[in-house]
Amino acid sequence: MSAPWAARPGDDVLADLADLRRADPPTHGGRVLSYVYDSGRADLDDVAARAVTLFLPVNGLDPTTFTSVAALESRLVARARDVLHGGPDTVGSVTTGGTESCLLAVKSARDTWRAADPSRAHARPTLVLPTTAHPAFHKAAAYLDLDVVAVPVDPDRGTPDAAAVLAALDERTALVVVSAPSYPFGVVDPVAEVAAGAAARGVACHVDACIGGWVLPWWGHDVPAWDLAVDGVTSISADLHKYGFAPKGASVVLYRDPARHRAQHFATTAWPGYPVVNPTVLGSRSAGGLAAAWAVLETLGHDGIATLVARTRDATAHLHDAATATRGLRVVGRPTGPLLALATDDTAPAADRVDPFHLVDALRHRGWLAQAQPALTQPDGTVLPRTAHLTITPVTQHVADDLAAALDDAATAVRGRAPATPDPALAQRVLTDGLPPDLAGVMATLEALPPDVVRPLLVEVLARAVAPRL
Ligand SMILES: *Cc1c(COP(=O)(O)O)cnc(C)c1O
Repeated sequence: MSAPWAARPGDDVLADLADLRRADPPTHGGRVLSYVYDSGRADLDDVAARAVTLFLPVNGLDPTTFTSVAALESRLVARARDVLHGGPDTVGSVTTGGTESCLLAVKSARDTWRAADPSRAHARPTLVLPTTAHPAFHKAAAYLDLDVVAVPVDPDRGTPDAAAVLAALDERTALVVVSAPSYPFGVVDPVAEVAAGAAARGVACHVDACIGGWVLPWWGHDVPAWDLAVDGVTSISADLHKYGFAPKGASVVLYRDPARHRAQHFATTAWPGYPVVNPTVLGSRSAGGLAAAWAVLETLGHDGIATLVARTRDATAHLHDAATATRGLRVVGRPTGPLLALATDDTAPAADRVDPFHLVDALRHRGWLAQAQPALTQPDGTVLPRTAHLTITPVTQHVADDLAAALDDAATAVRGRAPATPDPALAQRVLTDGLPPDLAGVMATLEALPPDVVRPLLVEVLARAVAPRL
């Protein structure tokens, strides 16, 4: 046991926190091209912070006691229902994030599937998804005892054939998932075809619009139908803490049929305490994210979002062109929305090729954080390429020329370099010494090792990063 800690003045403690924050990458200014979504409007950050402060002491556990929570959730769900083209019966919940929204959609589908037939009461259903679906669904399947059936996507387009997805559906399928767009490649799956085919087979269909839900509605007319306007879509998720510019901790999940929303809930009286009813995963929960999300949407208005999306689209087009013009690089598929995945142009001579992992390191040296995405061998043996992922936000527009120049400069620095290769010794070294400054070798090693080896390694790296020191 260490000695009890001594009290310190609050200002000291806060200075300490500010020190810690200084070591973080900049969350504003567009240099971090994943994780953070910068509207570029300081007034929105201010409104969000004040809303969080106002709701800090509230417990979202019981909206019948804290009626402010019920009112805000009702308003936010109504707003999302409008934006995502739900009908008058569409209902849903505000959750703490995309993972929770997806998890709840899977729980609702599993319980609805089981309730449809007494012989299924304890059976294990399947969850059908393209290989590009978000890991939140693998997590949901692991937590909730479903088997994942992964359908390959076309390596050039990044989307699956609707027919292949539908061929995977059978009596065991509780839910099929499509993305609008998918995170790795930013392309929209064939939502209408999959949803129609699923409906014809009596299978529920979830659209994961966690990243697209608050940007595609304003993107323009060249977006194929993807939301609740599509027949056969039974549920949809859309994160407010991405392109809704709320602080982390806010997402919505909506259901066309109220019965599916009810199936998401948990209720019990099997204890001597208060009657429990939880719509979402948590018990006691902050209402800060909810309040901030509402405040930001109201401050923006429909037109405010349109302006931010126009900036985002402009910047995305600029970077798409810049990446395409970069010798040895290509953009995967035809993205719809603000995400780009950059892969090696394999049609270029080896001396001209740019390896995405080296590119990510070279960009980091220049002050830009792109995200390395390892290659994936699909169930049919085809391989999705390793890529560098860029999430474009409204603020990117202000720095788009700088970013395009950095991309060119970084590509020039690594052009012709042999692609990063695995080094099993590196895995061990990461465990003892932590992550090296250049990550290309680590990423190539993770990419090459069998999943059963990689998973415990990832767990160990993270667990050690947050292990108690002193
Ligand atoms: C971000 C994201 C999720 C998960 O959301 P979290 O908020 O990170 O939990 C799910 N699906 C897609 C497509 C996403 O981009």
